[in-house]
Amino acid sequence: MVSLPDEIQAQLATLRQAYAQQLLGRVEQIATTWQQLSRRWDDTMLATLHRMTHNLAGSGATFGFAAISDRARALECLLQTIMESRNQITQEEGDQITALLELLQLAAAEPNSPTVMAELEHIPPVVMPPTYPPDERLIFFVKDTPDLTSDLVQQLSYFGYRVQTFASLKALQEAVHDTTPAAIIVDVRASEGSFAGTEMIKQIQQRRETPIPVVFLSIRSDLVARLQAVQSGGYAYFTKPVEIGTLIDKLDALSAHQSPDPYRILIVDDESTLASYYAYTLQQAGMKTFVVSDPLQVLQPLVDFRPDLILMDVYMPSCNGLELAAVIRQLESYLSIPIVFLSTETNLDRQLAAMSLGGDDFLMKPIHPHHLIRAVSSRAQRSRLLRSYMIKDSLTGLLNHTKTKEQLMIEVSRAQRRQRPLTFAMIDIDHFKSINDSYGHAIGDRVITSLSRLLQQRLRKTDVIGRYGGEEFAVILPETDGVAATPVLNELRAGFAQIRHQAADREFAVTFSCGLAVYPQYPEATSLSDAADKALYLAKAQGRDRVILAQPKEFA
Ligand code: GH3
Ligand code: MG
Ligand code: MG
Repeated sequence: MVSLPDEIQAQLATLRQAYAQQLLGRVEQIATTWQQLSRRWDDTMLATLHRMTHNLAGSGATFGFAAISDRARALECLLQTIMESRNQITQEEGDQITALLELLQLAAAEPNSPTVMAELEHIPPVVMPPTYPPDERLIFFVKDTPDLTSDLVQQLSYFGYRVQTFASLKALQEAVHDTTPAAIIVDVRASEGSFAGTEMIKQIQQRRETPIPVVFLSIRSDLVARLQAVQSGGYAYFTKPVEIGTLIDKLDALSAHQSPDPYRILIVDDESTLASYYAYTLQQAGMKTFVVSDPLQVLQPLVDFRPDLILMDVYMPSCNGLELAAVIRQLESYLSIPIVFLSTETNLDRQLAAMSLGGDDFLMKPIHPHHLIRAVSSRAQRSRLLRSYMIKDSLTGLLNHTKTKEQLMIEVSRAQRRQRPLTFAMIDIDHFKSINDSYGHAIGDRVITSLSRLLQQRLRKTDVIGRYGGEEFAVILPETDGVAATPVLNELRAGFAQIRHQAADREFAVTFSCGLAVYPQYPEATSLSDAADKALYLAKAQGRDRVILAQPKEFA
């Protein structure tokens, strides 16, 4: 959710207002606790009092109430000394506490300070997703030189790109007036001159606020040509003949469209106004947040909200953040989730203890919104990346075998609940061993990635695609029965067969075979995958390059 800056500012102001209204009450509560404590000494109550002042110091600073924060901090320090030394109090210390409390009450009665507005103004503008081309799959292609045949266009279309071709640079220039493509592919040279392509691109880019990604093609591989391309704002440079796989890689990266899933941040802080403040700040940067103000309720949101990162207060009443982090770490599934502690704790030993309990980092309260956003997003990003390495295959970026099987179980139980069909497809590249043998392993890898890309581009977002084995893929198609799935897989099969893969001096085509099995004909994940496997085997036996749907009678 990306809210508007004004909205956020207003929300923050409202939060601050709400906080200001609680201030006097909080300070009174501290005063009452102090009175009780001075009547009858009690270690637990001392700890409570310490925590209350600590929290007040932190939240006061966050909301810009400097006078409150400073006085609460002084009080906190005093209580800290008492706790650490002997848990006893001298007359002098008692008087100091009383005096500080009076000052605090005065400040709480007049809480308004202008500093917070300045602070709020520092909040960076909303990070809007960059303006993406309106059409993510549209490629403009200047087909000026005769050696670039319609073949490239055809090949691109197999990967889900729509290509609009232009006979001249002039025509391209006119078209980009009205339509912004995902990328432009153009030769460095054109009939107008040996650098006509780069010059035209330079002109086009100069008039634009956001440049269009340009991929240059050229028969030249010298530095001068490459420099020209870079200087005119080219993103990539390929020497001809272009290897289609690499070109697609580039285009995919350039049109790696759509803002990625927002980071999900679980905020654990007993101070709900403060928690909301963090939440709004992070939401403003495009993140998703979930606030837990009772730390004992943290487990359910871990499962339901699936955070990328936990932002956790250290001092909380029912349990402290460090212990809570240790508990979370002991749950296997959350072993790797980063936990960032937010605390006013300045004591180094405690910070180190927090780290050893599995906290990834310590941020000091009050933290400037800028820093909070930066710290949280960089850690969330890293966490996501690490997690994706664990569940994804490194060559294709698809789910790995284990994860695919897990997902199949999840999808099957969902299909059961909803009483909807589901198709499981197993795909195996034909005679792949001979491809490796003839062209080498690296080319073999290319073929695997090209199939993976094709699957990713042609299937729906809700379909699950996994790399099941070396040259085997699995696809889960929810809400799809055999009648619907068969033509989809057949189309993929035909599309893949038309891709021409390039080896050093040759071109070749590859096919795959596919076995399908459908829920509820096969009612469990295991029977589904067995049946799909058998159907695949049959497809191989019947001559490969075909899709076979498992029939319960034959395969049960
Ligand atoms: P079939 O049509 O019966 O499927 O024949 P095939 O040659 O594809 O069958 P087989 O399963 O016997 O051989 C698959 C080969 O794929 C074996 C292995 O060397 C190769 N392979 C597995 N993983 C990779 C990989 O990641 N990269 C490359 N280049 N080759 C791989
Ligand atoms: Mg195989
Ligand atoms: Mg094979």
